[in-house]
Amino acid sequence: MLNINDTNFSGKRALIRVDFNVPLNSDREVTDDTRIRAALPTIKKVIKDGGKAILMSHLGRPKNGPEEKYSLKHIAGKLGELLGTTVKVAPNCVGEEVKAMADELDKGQILLLENLRFHKEETAGDEFFAGQLAELGDIYVNDAFGTAHREHASTAVIARFFPENKLFGYLMEDEIKNIGRVLHGAKSPVTAIIGGAKVSSKITIIQNLMEVADNILIGGGMAYTFVRAMKGKIGDSLVEDDKLETALGIMELAKRTNTNLILPTDTLCADKFSEDANTRVCPTNKIPDGWMGLDIGPATIKSFLKVIRESRTILWNGPMGVFEMEKFSTGTEKVARTLADVTLAGSSFTLVGGGDSVAAINKYNLAEKVSYVSTGGGAMLEYLEGKVLPGIAAIKGE
Ligand code: AMP
Repeated sequence: MLNINDTNFSGKRALIRVDFNVPLNSDREVTDDTRIRAALPTIKKVIKDGGKAILMSHLGRPKNGPEEKYSLKHIAGKLGELLGTTVKVAPNCVGEEVKAMADELDKGQILLLENLRFHKEETAGDEFFAGQLAELGDIYVNDAFGTAHREHASTAVIARFFPENKLFGYLMEDEIKNIGRVLHGAKSPVTAIIGGAKVSSKITIIQNLMEVADNILIGGGMAYTFVRAMKGKIGDSLVEDDKLETALGIMELAKRTNTNLILPTDTLCADKFSEDANTRVCPTNKIPDGWMGLDIGPATIKSFLKVIRESRTILWNGPMGVFEMEKFSTGTEKVARTLADVTLAGSSFTLVGGGDSVAAINKYNLAEKVSYVSTGGGAMLEYLEGKVLPGIAAIKGE
């Protein structure tokens, strides 16, 4: 495995797996370019060295072959604008014509391949298809953390064709380093703030985090499954009845591992799931029928913020309430702002990751004010769960 900083790409065709799976509007314009920006340092390094950048990505979930709305050509304009140069667009990602386009690139030029998932062989991890892609490059660079948990042709299988010439891009290096700061040798106290809708999607991560976290703060809809498991009255709040035993198991594990698992004591309840609902604050275990908990309450906010301020390493995944509605966004906003405060004070390392917490941190314009925002939702969660990610293992040769 090579190191990107020590590699000179001059004259080389660098085949870079990026994650350009970005949202587009109905005019096929990019509405959030975060993922494109995240890939720029690696592309710029290749270009600056005098290398040739051949970029490959998926976009959306095309079902059966090419679909206009998922064409990577819609990304080329934005990418060129951000790089200040023109980007050539290939009509496919494999085949003679594309191979010729890659071979004809001059030093410093960029070729964007068509959507990898227009070929079902990509997600199937097909070795022949991976070999066809591999013909386009002299060096393989994986910079797509967002798909590192998938064993696809372009993210993992392809690495076999580059036994010597494979490396992580800057984004991958950053993600591995920053998530690693929580998992290995983190400064204590370590606090994980876990929220979101369902406990079922976060069980393994909570269990794995118990090995490293001193405190786990549980917010969001998932908290009510814990409260219900302890025979509390949760009214019409979100609950996963088939996960009550699991919730009890998690609380038991917390005791055994000496982890403070902290649940909300009060809740902002609403009489309907709507911005114009009537609201009241209730103890989390005494929510009347006909009412549902949609945010953490003021006493919980106070106690959560105190724990956060006293922590040295903090991971945040999942909102504290239905933050998309103004009325139920206070808990999420306060957590976001406090993370920014402790980061500014220089006392703590703060890592934010997972779709909706990233959306929340962006909503309050705080992405630059925390230590690191992970670009990989599912990949970050699986990494924190302690799983080996195929995209990482393939480069490391594990
Ligand atoms: P997840 O994708 O599991 O992280 O869940 C994120 C979603 O959970 C967001 O869309 C929130 O609106 C939703 N959510 C958070 N708290 C609650 C709650 N108390 N009741 C219902 N939905 C919630």
